[in-house]
Amino acid sequence: MAENTFKNGKIGVTTENIFPVIKKFLYSDHEIFLRELVANAVDATQKVKTLASTGELKQELGDLSVRIELDEAAKTLKIIDRGIGMTAEEVDRYINQIAFSSAGEFLDKYKDKIGSIIGHFGLGFYSAFMVADNVTIETLSWKEGAKAVKWNCDGSPEYSLEECDKADRGTVITLHIEDESAEFATKSRITSLLGKYCKFMPFPVVFGKKTEWKDGKDVETEEDNVINNIDPIWTRKPTDLTEEDYDKFYKALYPFEEGPMFHIHLNVDFPFHLTGVLFFPKIKERMSIDKNKIQLYCNQMFVTDHVDNIVPDFLTLLHGVIDSPDIPLNVSRSYLQSDANVKKISSFITKKVAAKLTEIFKEQRSDFETKWDNIKLFIEYGMLTNEEFAQKAMDFVLLKNTEDKYYSLEEYKTLICETQKNKDGKIVYLYATDANAQYPYIEAAKAKGYDVLMLDCELDSHFVGMLESKIQDSVFARVDSDSVENLICKEERLKPELSEDDKKSLDEMVKAVLPQGYEFSVDAQNLGEDQPPVLLTQMEFMRRYREMSKMGGGLNFYGQMPESYNVIVNMENPLVKKFWDAKDSALLKQMTDLALLGAGLLKGKDLTDFIRNSWQLLR
Ligand code: ADP
Repeated sequence: MAENTFKNGKIGVTTENIFPVIKKFLYSDHEIFLRELVANAVDATQKVKTLASTGELKQELGDLSVRIELDEAAKTLKIIDRGIGMTAEEVDRYINQIAFSSAGEFLDKYKDKIGSIIGHFGLGFYSAFMVADNVTIETLSWKEGAKAVKWNCDGSPEYSLEECDKADRGTVITLHIEDESAEFATKSRITSLLGKYCKFMPFPVVFGKKTEWKDGKDVETEEDNVINNIDPIWTRKPTDLTEEDYDKFYKALYPFEEGPMFHIHLNVDFPFHLTGVLFFPKIKERMSIDKNKIQLYCNQMFVTDHVDNIVPDFLTLLHGVIDSPDIPLNVSRSYLQSDANVKKISSFITKKVAAKLTEIFKEQRSDFETKWDNIKLFIEYGMLTNEEFAQKAMDFVLLKNTEDKYYSLEEYKTLICETQKNKDGKIVYLYATDANAQYPYIEAAKAKGYDVLMLDCELDSHFVGMLESKIQDSVFARVDSDSVENLICKEERLKPELSEDDKKSLDEMVKAVLPQGYEFSVDAQNLGEDQPPVLLTQMEFMRRYREMSKMGGGLNFYGQMPESYNVIVNMENPLVKKFWDAKDSALLKQMTDLALLGAGLLKGKDLTDFIRNSWQLLR
C-alpha cells in the first residue's frame, strides 16, 4: 500500500466548493441520499456474496443485513454493511478521485439545464452532503491482511484519511445531519424513506428493533426490524406463484384499493433486461383514474413512480412494478423519449399486455366478459392512442348489445351482416348511449329485427369513429339519429307528395306545438303505416361533433350551437293522416309530445300536461 494513501488532502474538483452547489440544484430531492447509500451498501454486499460463491472469499459470509442506526439526540445516522469494504487505496480512488471528480464533471456538464435533469439522478456517495455537514467512512476490506481505514470530510473540499481499528469486514458510513436537515434525524422520516426506497431491496435492511405492545405501551423486542421483502414476486417464477401471492403483493403496494382484475407477469432477458408485474386495477369511478401507480425499480431499488416516458400513455393507467437496469435514469426526460432501449421496452410492454388480453379472451371467455365493463375504458383508450395496440386489440375488443350480450368484432359482423346491410352494401351498426332515454328508438329497431349496441362510455364517440375507419364498409349510427327506416335504408322510398303550400303549413303547424330553446327542422316522410307518427332525431355527425367538443376536441363551433333536431312526420301513419285531413292541432301536439318524450325533451310541467292529456284521450 502506498505510503501517501494516508494523508490529509484536497479533493480534486474544479468547482471550489462543490457541496453548496449540489445542495442548491438538487434541493427537492435531498431525501434520495438514503437510497444512494443503502444501494451502495447492498452493492458491496452483493459483491461479497459473489466472491464467496466463487470461493475467493476465505472467511465466513456471516450476517449480510444492511443496518441503519439513528441516534436522534446526537443527530447521527449510520449505514452499516458487511460487504466487500474498501482498502485505503480504494477509498482514495473511488471516493476522493472518482466520486468527487465525477460530481464536478456532472455539474460542469449540466450547469445550464440542471432543471431538466431527471429528478432521480444517481448521485452516489456524495449525495450524503445534501443533508450532512460531516461524513465519516470506516471500512475494512475483505482482502486478506487489509487494514481498516477511516475517512472524514466536513463538506469542505478537505478530507482526512487514516488507519482505524474496525475489526469487522464491511463499511460504516456515519452522517452527522446538519441543522437545516434535522428532519432526517427523526425516526419517522427515516422509516418512511426506507419504506419508499428500500421496500424490495435484495438483502435484509434492518432499522432498529421490532416493538410490541406491553403494559399499555410499545416496548422494543430483541428481534431485528427488517423493513423490506427481499424476494418480491416479480423476481420469482410465475410457475412458483399462486393467484393469492399476486393479490397479497398488490395489497402490500396499494393497501387502500380493491383487489386487481388480473395481472401480467413481465420477464425478458433480451435485448434488454426487464421484469415486473402489471395489474389491471378495478376502476371505481371512470373519470377519476389514477395515473402514476406503476413503480419503476432498478435491481429492486425504487427509482420513481413517474413512468410516463417509459411506458405508453395508456399503460400508465395500470398498476404494478417494472424493474429494469437498462432504463437510463441519469438523463433528461426528453432524451428518455427518444432512447432506443426505452422505445423497445415500451413496445415490449404493449405487446405483452395485448397478448395477455388475447389469452384471456381466448381461454377464459366468460371471465373476460365479466371483466369487460371494467377494462373497456382502458382498452378503448389504448386503441385510440396507440396504433400498435389498436391493431392487436381488434381481435379481442368486445361489443355489448342492449341485451347485455357480448360479441367480438368478427362475431358481431356475422350477426348483423345480412339483416343490417343497407342498399349501398354498407353494414349499419346501430348503437344507443342511454338505454332509458333512447328506449323508443331501441324498441323500434328491435321490432325490425335489428340489433342495437350499447356504447355508453366516455370515449365511445371517439371509439365509434375509429371502428368506422377500421371496419371496412361499416357505418355507425345512433338509434335516435334518424327513423329506423332511414338508418338502414333498404330501398329508395318515395317522398310524400306535398305541395309547397302544404309543406309550409305543415312546418308552421308542427313548430307551433314544439318547445322553445331548440332548433327544429320539419321533414315529411313515408315510413310505413306501422311506424311511429312523429320522430325526433338528431343528426349523427352533428351530435358527434357536439360530444367531441364537450370533451375538448377543439370543435367549439359545434359545441356552442343550440341543440338541433329533425322532426320527421310519417305521413303514412294513420294518426298523422287523421290530423292532416282535419288539421287537428291538438292531435298533432299529442303526437309531437310523444316524440319529445321519447327524445327526453319533455320535462317538468310539460310532462304532467302530457300525461293528463293522454289520460283525457284514453277516457
Ligand atoms: P457508484 O455507486 O455510482 O459507483 P458512488 O459515488 O456511490 O458511485 O460510489 C463510488 C464507489 O465507492 C463505488 O463504486 C464503490 O466502489 C465504492 N463504495 C461506495 N460505498 C461503498 C460501500 N458501502 N462499500 C464498498 N464500496 C463502496
